[in-house]
This record gives sequence, structure tokens and C-alpha cells, in this order.
Amino acid sequence: MRKNRSDRVNLLNESFVLALSSPLSLYVHIPFCVRKCPYCAFYSVVSKASEIDKFMNCLDEELKLWAALAGGKIKVQTLYIGGGTPTLLNHWQWERLISSLERYVDFLPFLEASVEANPGSLTADHIKLWRSWRITRVSLGVQSLDDGELQLLKRPHSAHDAADAIAALVASGLDVSVDLIFGLPGQTIQSWHRTLKDCLNFGIRHLSIYELTLEEGTPWGECPPSGLTEGYPLYRFAQWYLPKKGFIQYEIASFSLPRHWCRHNIAYWQGENFLGVGPGAWGYLDGFRYGNTREINDYFDQITSENLPVEYQEILPQDKQATEAAILALRTRWGVTATTFKRKYGWKAYRKFLDTWEKLPSDCRAACRGRHAFTPKGFRIANALWENFL
Ligand code: SF4
Repeated sequence: MRKNRSDRVNLLNESFVLALSSPLSLYVHIPFCVRKCPYCAFYSVVSKASEIDKFMNCLDEELKLWAALAGGKIKVQTLYIGGGTPTLLNHWQWERLISSLERYVDFLPFLEASVEANPGSLTADHIKLWRSWRITRVSLGVQSLDDGELQLLKRPHSAHDAADAIAALVASGLDVSVDLIFGLPGQTIQSWHRTLKDCLNFGIRHLSIYELTLEEGTPWGECPPSGLTEGYPLYRFAQWYLPKKGFIQYEIASFSLPRHWCRHNIAYWQGENFLGVGPGAWGYLDGFRYGNTREINDYFDQITSENLPVEYQEILPQDKQATEAAILALRTRWGVTATTFKRKYGWKAYRKFLDTWEKLPSDCRAACRGRHAFTPKGFRIANALWENFL
């Protein structure tokens, strides 16, 4: 649903300026990669130097448009710079990004600022620059520490590159998270164990683990590789192994040492407001959800015409907001809190939630002091459980 500029501005002015002018989370999408991984459905394009420079100018303009709607600087409590591959930006492009953010954003105290990095393009200069600015945590796209698995994934880094990158980040004092994939062709419990163990030995404090999914529109979605491994036992192994090492599973795909959770992601799961900028980014402001155009040339055209590059928008009715909030909250170990849920969505919505909740298998759910959350078994079959709420 494409809207013209005045529609967009009116919609925002009428109902959402208050949300926009209050503290929120900010996501910045850097849509460039060295090459496209065959399983990846995130929006990114293979980078060209001239395109990156044009993108940096457009991103500055997009932030300026949002700041104008907010009536001043955007107040940000968590920042996440993701992609794509943010480490494809060189020193000067990072300086440019930082100066745009400083111009339009008011960073609040106790800021959490994350950046995604890839082992093949991370440099000592990136780390130095991030340390000298506001970055507090780095999420590194390791995927595996097994060279055979990395080659299958067609990743542009080796296990050695990944190990060097983790070691350098940990030594820098930044909070380090590592992304891993399981369910790969030929992957075994032994190779999965080795990857987990080696990551922990470096002293990381956070892990995100994702099952390989064959997404429509990707090369592997069209033509799956042979010999895929069943993901369930590998996930179950991680649920057994990581807590033994002091890690808490605080979300379906996320494990961390106590209090090293990603606050930015928790804000999504708790239905808080966030702004997304860059091609393909999504945002949510008190029931107003929007999605930016994914196509980079369209993004450039919209910004050049001084339009927000919003391609999709909807206002969620209250009952849909309540259902989505319940499903998102159930991703986490804190689950749905009765008092908060009733205050936000009303008694009737809470009753509806409870009706469904009580029909779920008893070994998949736990309720304690007004909190309703999935058990480890519930996390394992969450996709099937959520369907009951829809
Ligand atoms: S590096 Fe990440 S974002 Fe880029 S194509 Fe590969 S998986 Fe997708």
C-alpha cells in the first residue's frame, strides 16, 4: 500500500507524533554485502562504492525527515546498526554515519548501541572507532567454526578469520555476541558442540542460534542443498549445553550470561516503539507499523524527492495488537505479564489470551506470580504453539 507524502505525514501528525517524540529504539539498516549468501532472505545488495556514498547521503536525509516529524532530535534508548554488512563501510563512511546520527539523535543515558559485523570485513580500525564512539556491543556473524560448514554456506570467511575476529572483539572490551546457524548439511552434534565450545572459550557473553530455513525467493529456497540435518536435536543440545556453562536462554534463539541480554531486541519483543531507517527497515509506533521500500533505487528516488521511503503501513486494531504482543512476549523467558497486558490491552484481551494459554500442553508452559512463559520444551515447539493464538 503506497501512500503519497502528504498522507504519510498526516497519518503521523494525527496519532503518532507523541510516540515519535518519546524515547524509542532505532534500527539502521546498511543494505550492502560482499556477495549474497544462498540462504539469505534479508534485503541486501552487492556493494558498489558509489552506491554506498549515495546511501550515506540518503540515510542522513531520512533521519532528518523523521527528526522533523518528531519536532526535534529523536530520543533513542537503544540503537542497532544491522544489515547487510555494516563492516563493509570504511572509516570515512562510518564517520559520516556517526555524524548523521549525532545530528538527528539525542542518545539517552545508559544507551545500548549494537552493531553487526562480519569476520571477513571487520578491521582493527572499526573496533577502534566504535570504542571511541557510543558502541557497546557487537554481534558477529560467525555462523560456524567449521571450515567445511562455512564453505557450504558460501560465507566469505574461514573459521580462522572468525576466531581472530572474536578474539579481537573480546579483547577490546565490547560486549560480544555471536550468531550461529544449525541444521546445516552434514552437521553433527559433535561439530555443533565444537563450535559452541570454541565460541564460549573466547569469553563471549551472548549467542544467537538460528535454524537454517529455506526461504522462498532465495537460491536454497528454490533448490535446497542435499543432506540437510534435522535441527531439533541440535537445538535441544544447545538448550542442555549452554545453561551448564552459565548461559540463560532468555529468548527462543538467544542465550546470554545474566544481564547481558540484548535490550534492543527485548524492546521489539515487549512491543515497545522503534523506528527503522534504511531500505527494507520496519518501524512500529503505538500500533502504527510501517515498512520502507526494499528496492535501493526506489529508496534513493523517494528520499531525493524529500519523501519518507515508506512503502507499507498499517494501523493495527486493538485486538490484533494484543495478539501480536502476546506472541512476541512469549518468545522470551519473561513471557506475558498479567498486569502489564491488562493495562495495555484490557481485561477482555487478557481473558482471551488465558483461554488459549490454558489449552496448551501443560509441559510447554509455566505461570508464576502473574507471568506466563514457555518452558524449554515450549520454546522447542513454539511455532506450533503460537498458531493457537492466531
Ligand atoms: S552476509 Fe548476512 S545479510 Fe549478507 S547475504 Fe550473507 S547472510 Fe545475508
